[in-house]
Amino acid sequence: MQNQFDVIVVGGGHAGTEAAAAAARLGVRTLLLTQNLDTIGQMSCNPAIGGIGKGHLVKEVDALGGIMALAIDQAGIQFRTLNASKGPAVRATRAQADRGLYKCAVRRLLEDLPALQLFQGMVGDLLMEGDALAGVVLETGLVLRAPQVVLTTGTFLGGRVHMGDQNYAAGRAGDPPSNALAQRLRAMAFPVARLKTGTPPRIDGRSIDYSVLEAQPGDTPPPAFSFMTQRIAVPQRACHITHTNIRTHEIIAANLHQSAMYGGHIQSVGPRYCPSIEDKVVRFAAKNSHQIFLEPEGLDTHEVYPNGISTSLPFTVQVELVRSMRGLENAVLLRPGYAIEYDYLDPRDLHLSLESQRLPGLFCAGQINGTTGYEEAAAQGLPAGLTAARRARDLAAWTPGRHEAYLGVMVDDLVTRGLDEPYRMFTSRAEYRLQLREDNADLRLTPHGRALGLVNDVRWTAFSTKQDIVQAERRRLAGLRIHPGSASAGRIAAKTEQPLSRDVSALELLRRPDWDYVSLLNALELPLCTDAQAREQLEIECKYAGYVARQHDEITRAARWEGTDIPADMDYAAVRGLSAEVLQRLARQRPQTIGLASRIPGVTPAAISLLLIHVKRRG
Ligand code: FAD
Repeated sequence: MQNQFDVIVVGGGHAGTEAAAAAARLGVRTLLLTQNLDTIGQMSCNPAIGGIGKGHLVKEVDALGGIMALAIDQAGIQFRTLNASKGPAVRATRAQADRGLYKCAVRRLLEDLPALQLFQGMVGDLLMEGDALAGVVLETGLVLRAPQVVLTTGTFLGGRVHMGDQNYAAGRAGDPPSNALAQRLRAMAFPVARLKTGTPPRIDGRSIDYSVLEAQPGDTPPPAFSFMTQRIAVPQRACHITHTNIRTHEIIAANLHQSAMYGGHIQSVGPRYCPSIEDKVVRFAAKNSHQIFLEPEGLDTHEVYPNGISTSLPFTVQVELVRSMRGLENAVLLRPGYAIEYDYLDPRDLHLSLESQRLPGLFCAGQINGTTGYEEAAAQGLPAGLTAARRARDLAAWTPGRHEAYLGVMVDDLVTRGLDEPYRMFTSRAEYRLQLREDNADLRLTPHGRALGLVNDVRWTAFSTKQDIVQAERRRLAGLRIHPGSASAGRIAAKTEQPLSRDVSALELLRRPDWDYVSLLNALELPLCTDAQAREQLEIECKYAGYVARQHDEITRAARWEGTDIPADMDYAAVRGLSAEVLQRLARQRPQTIGLASRIPGVTPAAISLLLIHVKRRG
């Protein structure tokens, strides 16, 4: 085996696979090193991709030529559009995955990349030559060299699984932890802290009484994730819904002292938005019931994931609480639920490119940066792998701005604000969310992806064709005039109960709230454009043109100082008028731009003005 690479990616989870794919797509010699090749693309917790905010990230990764959306489209067994009745900015795609198919799809997509080599091995150390990063050393002693290393070790660094008062070292159930590397990172004085997360027990579906449960089917036709997918070919399955009840809550309350977290065995913070069932019962004590989704884990297995009862209670209590729910009275558990504590590295130590400030050439992506979720991990892996590969070619880093992508919002949040609980994406985190929609992720990012070398010819042709169709349809509707008194005007008036007072184009009518694309064209007895994606893009673009233009003005105003560089050797003590607290925060984080400085908590608008004046004087 050759031992010299341009980029080494450590970890074959959701961040690692996107990082390796992005680097390899640029044609640099890339090695994906992971503990076990059979767990590449493994979903550690729920077998599902997407959701509000998360689905947006998946579409953005796809628009940049990533693999997550393609993989879930080849493995999804239930697809839905969430918030379908709300505005397009908060509409989001979510899919249940067949775990096995998902892993196979990820592996297949990676094996299609000629510049990528896979290797199974446990990294125990970083290889240093003087102060410079030179590669990694496996726990077996094998040395693998590369000037760029991307760490994506997930929940594995110093991982410890908890169930009741039992605990043991593990990266997740069934996989060993990454302890040697965790110790080295601590010894090298990286800013390490601990977080925790948890997962529910799994149930044998043959022991569930589905006849008393409400079924929740997916959408028909299933909405695909990837802009490249024409049709979902995987057979689809329904989920089912049950509820916790007073009895469930009594069981939990009576055994709270035995829960790893409430019994004092875990001190670290977990995801507030993905609470354990113990947390829900304590925090929402007034609620007598919580909805629990019973999600199939795949087509060829009876295993079921009960979404909503993540727990670190002892196993015997888990059995009792599961069996207290309707339809689950005779449930047989296949795997226990557990909590896991792990090390993460404070992301405020990173540049926007996700490269370490203290060790050039080292990139970090995914759960190691304190995020939670497959989608958040993938959306960091891609830019980290991309920039590592660009560095190999002496090219500058690339990160989208907050106004361009959720991916940009997340990276900016992480490096400027850090976190005090696992970070997950929400649409509310984006100030420009009207233009950061799922439907236009390709429009926002595919041209960047093409320029960066991430988007291949097939995707580029598909993207360009779609844009041509949107433009042609826009021209067609703009050219179609409806005259008062015509038969078309009559049909329009019949629907809106308002006669047309003047000549209007079909495009103008589409902007009005009374009409959607299909009903308007049907009323006008016109043939529909056959490309559903193009239709959706045109319709949303028309309806939200005014709001988007206003947001665009805001972005232009903010851009005046947002991108102003702060010199790397900036002496903050020389900025007149800064308070000691602000000075300390700026000197600690050393933001690259005024925009980044403005989002550091505690840095006031007044301090930003002083900084701007100072930078301009110096410049
Ligand atoms: P991972 O998917 O964890 O992948 C890490 C990879 O690195 C693995 O392939 C591992 O083998 C490899 N690796 C680690 N150390 C080394 C080493 N030294 N050398 C070589 N390879 C190494 N997310 C949610 O959104 N909601 C939840 O409710 C939720 N609950 C979770 C519960 C549990 C118990 C666990 C374990 C995870 C949970 N997650 C949850 C988190 C989700 O699994 C992660 O956010 C996601 O998998 C992170 O992706 P990643 O690529 O950063 O890391």
